This record gives sequence, structure tokens and C-alpha cells, in this order.
Amino acid sequence: MDKDVQIAHNNNTLPPSYEYSKCGGDEVRHELSESQISSILVNKAWLFYFNNDALEQEYRNQYRRSAIKTLRFNGTLSSLLFIFIGALILKLIPADSVYDWILYDVSAFFVVSFFWGLVWLSAFERWFDGYASIGGIIAIATSVFVNNSIPLGDGTTLSYTALTYIVLFIYCFIGLRIQIAVFTGITGGILGVSLTYIFGADVKWAIFNGTFGIASILALFLAYGIDRQTRVNFLQSYLLHLNVKQSKNMLEASEAMVSKLDELSNRDALTGLANRRYLDEIILHEWHRALHNQYSLVVMMIDIDYFKAFNDTMGHLAGDDCLRKVASLISNVTHRRGEFSARYGGEEFILLYSNMDIMSVEIQAQKLYSDLADANIIYPTVECGRVTFSMGISVCIPSAEMSAVQLIQQADIALYKAKANGRNRYEVFKGSSYS
Ligand code: GH3
Ligand code: MG
Ligand code: MG
Repeated sequence: MDKDVQIAHNNNTLPPSYEYSKCGGDEVRHELSESQISSILVNKAWLFYFNNDALEQEYRNQYRRSAIKTLRFNGTLSSLLFIFIGALILKLIPADSVYDWILYDVSAFFVVSFFWGLVWLSAFERWFDGYASIGGIIAIATSVFVNNSIPLGDGTTLSYTALTYIVLFIYCFIGLRIQIAVFTGITGGILGVSLTYIFGADVKWAIFNGTFGIASILALFLAYGIDRQTRVNFLQSYLLHLNVKQSKNMLEASEAMVSKLDELSNRDALTGLANRRYLDEIILHEWHRALHNQYSLVVMMIDIDYFKAFNDTMGHLAGDDCLRKVASLISNVTHRRGEFSARYGGEEFILLYSNMDIMSVEIQAQKLYSDLADANIIYPTVECGRVTFSMGISVCIPSAEMSAVQLIQQADIALYKAKANGRNRYEVFKGSSYS
């Protein structure tokens, strides 16, 4: 709050609600409440799907983004491993199979690498499931086809082992969601078997089932565990985010409330002006500022004339109304920087001005009197027929020898003089070096 001016109005409101925010580095749309998320998390009724389209979509987007990042690394590592295992197989297979093996496996390796290369292009991000799945299908189909169609001799075992690695990799390391991984594995297997028959070879079912089949089942369980855990983590991070957001909102609300209470404790309930307590605080502050900068400080003390009798004749409610009207015209002339007004006591008010010369002070006093005349608050039993007030003014350039309290006392002395001189007038305290 700016203490140089009247009590500032506090317009603190909560920030407008926002639709998107960061959650674990990704954008999350807040469609669900904390209790909804908690119940999904506790019930764990879902298997492969959240039963909420918006949430599921958020999950998939987040999952895909993290899968792409992971696959950039995993793909590099697995390429190196497959080159290594490929070299080992090549050393073990019969010489007359080398040409075919290279033809199919090496070209499949380059095709799959091409699809893998798309993970580096963000423009292809939304087709990740598609291109990763195609790459996986080609890898499995080629491996199944080569294992069944080309005589691999001593390289057979290693080549089938490589097939199980490929299956494991597709289910657990690419970052395909489980449904797509299953589709990829089965389609790759069927395509490989079909190609084998199309090219006139036989499928070695026992070894195929024992490697590809079992690897697929094991990888499926692993992939399900991964999928489920990732979903739990997603919900937990969502909850955490909602909690942080909620605490932030609560903090802001309580800050607004504290600020409101602070403001209320500084206000006079009847007139809305600053109260005496706040005036004491402000005048000290202004005194030190004026002392430091060596400019003038002005106190105008106003006291409504014959107010006790006003209450007696017009009633207490009319008295309150009169106080509000006077307060309003006082606050109208103290709204700029360096100006301050307060209700000092019953029917007494104080105006505080900084850096104002004596001529301007008198102009301001005259303006107040003309405003009061314009307000024309009816008071039938006094001579002029309307409410008047008296004013005592004190002006000084603060010095170490003086205090703010003395400045108020001088205004009070001047006010007493104004009362003594017949009321409805102002007097300036004489005696200070300034006046
Ligand atoms: P003077 O011209 O010498 O100032 O006389 P006065 O009657 O104005 O002064 P006095 O101090 O005798 O009376 C002040 C009156 O102000 C007494 C009290 O009833 C009245 N007053 C103080 N606070 C309130 C208030 O909140 N509402 C109303 N209606 N009257 C109040
Ligand atoms: Mg009084
Ligand atoms: Mg009075």
C-alpha cells in the first residue's frame, strides 16, 4: 500500500483461471478435479484405458512425447547391438547363405533405421505410433522370414535369439502403447510366416513358437506392467500438480484476505476515511520523508461547529450522515500523491499535505469552505442555516528539534483560535519558522 497517499483501494482478486499448465514438463488440460483423479487412481478399474477421453488423450500425448525422446537414445543403442549380433550371425551361417542373408537382413535394417530416423523430426511427432509400428512389423517379418527361408546352419540359434530380442524391444523399449505393440508383434509374425510360405519355405513351428511365441507372451506381461506403472505415475503427477495449484490459489486468497483485513483495520467504519491509528502511522512516515527531503508538511485540523447541538436537534442518524458528507468533501481534496485525510476523532478530521507552500495551503482551505457551502448541509438552528466547521492549520519544514505530534498540536492551537474567533473560519498557527 502506498503510504504517501490516501489508503489505497485493494482490488486483489484471484488470477483468472487458466486452461493449460505444465505437468511433468508437458501441457495438461485441467478437465478433471482432484477427487476424480484420486478415484481413478484408487479404483484402478482401468486396464489399458482411463475411461475418460480427455484424460486418455493427455496421457497418450505425454506418453508419445516421452517415448520419442527415449527412442532417440534406445534406437542408437539397439542399432549397435543388432549390428554386433548381425556380425556374429554372419560368421556362423553357411557361405552360400551369406548373399541372401545380407540382401534381406541388411536391407531391412536400413529400412527400419529410416523409420527410426523419423524420431528426430518433430514434424512427424503425431505419426509416431504409425511409423514406429511399421518399422517394428518390418523388423519382425524379416527376421521370421529369414529364419525360416534361409539355411542358417550354426547361426540358427543366434538368429532366433535375435528374433526374441526384437520382440522384447518392440514391446518394451520403443514406447509403443501396449495395444499398438501387440498389433505390431502379431502383424509382424503373421507377415513373416506368410512371406515364408509365399516364397515356398516351411515354418519351423516348434522353434518359432518357443522363441517368437514365448517372447511375445513374456513381453506382453512386461509391457502391461510398464503401461500400468506409467499410467499410475501420470495420475500421481497430475494430482501433485493440482495440489500445487490449489495451494497457490489458497495462498493468494489468504494474502488477499490479509490485505483486506489490513485495509479494514486502517479505515473508519462510518466515513470510510483513514482512522486515527493509520493517521499516526502515515504522519510519521511523511514527517521522515519531508525531513529527509526538506520540504514542507501541512496539517489542517477540522472540527464541525456546534455538532453536539446538531445531534441533539437533528438526531444522531442525521449527525452520522453529516459526518459522511463532510468526510466525502475532505477526501475529494486529498486524492493526489502526498495528500492524505483521516477522521481524527468524533467530528474532527485531519488533512495532510506534503511540499505545499503557504499560499497554496490557504487556497486549499478556501476551496474546502466553498465546497462545504455548496454541500449546504441543513442546520436550521444556527445563524447561517447550514453546517460549518472551523479549521486550524500548521505548516513547517520538519527539523530534528520538532516532531509530527507537535505539528498536530500546533494545528489544534490554531483550531482553538478559530473557534474562539467565532467559528466557520480557519486560522494558521503563527510561531513556526515557516509561517
Ligand atoms: P464546537 O463547535 O466547540 O466544536 O462544539 P461541538 O458541539 O461540535 O463539540 P463537542 O466536542 O461538544 O461535541 C462533539 C459531538 O460530536 C459530541 C458527540 O455526540 C458528537 N459525535 C462524535 N462522534 C459522533 C458520531 O460518530 N456520530 C454522531 N452522530 N455524532 C458524533
Ligand atoms: Mg470536537
Ligand atoms: Mg465540534
